[in-house]
Amino acid sequence: MRRLDADLQRVMRESRDCPFCEGNGQRLVFDREGRSVTAHCACSYGRWMRNLVDYELRLRIPDVTEILAGRSPWQLESPEDEGSLSRAQVEAIFGRSTWP
Ligand SMILES: [Zn+2]
Repeated sequence: MRRLDADLQRVMRESRDCPFCEGNGQRLVFDREGRSVTAHCACSYGRWMRNLVDYELRLRIPDVTEILAGRSPWQLESPEDEGSLSRAQVEAIFGRSTWP
């Protein structure tokens, strides 16, 4: 467990300035209709998370690395909305419980 903690601290440090997730290890990605899901980021933290989930789950969670390589149907930006987050997107990021 101690080794896991040390690894986590290291990858979080490495990913702090990530341009894709700002150090969260995850990022919302979108399909062409603007539906969003959480993807594992291409940075160390995202890789670390992806390594923890089992194979079945990994198949269902998009990978920013694949998106950047053009091998994924998902895209980094919403097709319809450039700036502000919709309520659904905020909930997807922060969880329903944090919404007032
Ligand atoms: Zn990242």
